[in-house]
Amino acid sequence: MEKQMQLLWELQEIDAGLDEIRDTQESFAPKLDNIKEDIALLKGADEEYQSELAAKEVDRRDLRDKVEQLKGLIAQSKEKITQIANNKEYFAVLKELEHNQKQLEKLDLELAGLVEEIDLIKGQIAENEKELDAKFAEMALEEKQIAAKVATLERKIKSGERGRQAKTKDLDQTFLRRYQRIRKRFKNAVVAAENGTCLGCNVNVPPQVYNDLLKGQEMMCCPNCQRIMVNRAAAAAEK
Ligand SMILES: [Zn+2]
Repeated sequence: MEKQMQLLWELQEIDAGLDEIRDTQESFAPKLDNIKEDIALLKGADEEYQSELAAKEVDRRDLRDKVEQLKGLIAQSKEKITQIANNKEYFAVLKELEHNQKQLEKLDLELAGLVEEIDLIKGQIAENEKELDAKFAEMALEEKQIAAKVATLERKIKSGERGRQAKTKDLDQTFLRRYQRIRKRFKNAVVAAENGTCLGCNVNVPPQVYNDLLKGQEMMCCPNCQRIMVNRAAAAAEK
């Protein structure tokens, strides 16, 4: 019985080690997910900038066409005005010329503003791309580091599982099943009991139960928390 309890105790140590390794492995994923999320956001931003840019480029082409049209009209008016003898017609053409010149000034300003906006968007796109490149580099590095860590951890898991197999081979299968059932509720399914107290829940166990434990004839579970109790003093003396 002592030997069986000792095996269970050692099995629990191996299982605790394996749990820790698996937790570590699982902790890698959120970090990568965060980077991937950032990348998705940056890509989304890039798409918005690109469509904004495309729209502004269309506006710029339209404005340039209007400017060219106006310049043509103004040139025509200037040409016409030199050939007019009649006052009334002269003023009409002059009025149109002035109107078109004012319009041209306005459009030129608008165009300059638009060009400025386009440059700004292009700057944002470049900035965004730089950030995106940095994120991709970060992700590549992170993946490389994780791969190396995972490889090490997997080696540890394999050796842990080999150790586990060696322990379970010699274990009473009823004990093993009970251990595994309790372990679904408590990570420490096997606990020490000392001076009449279960160290899993820190509750005193009835003297009769504790005496049976000390006798070491059968597997004793704590009546309060149901964990398997081990008389560690006996186990230590045996070693
Ligand atoms: Zn207990």
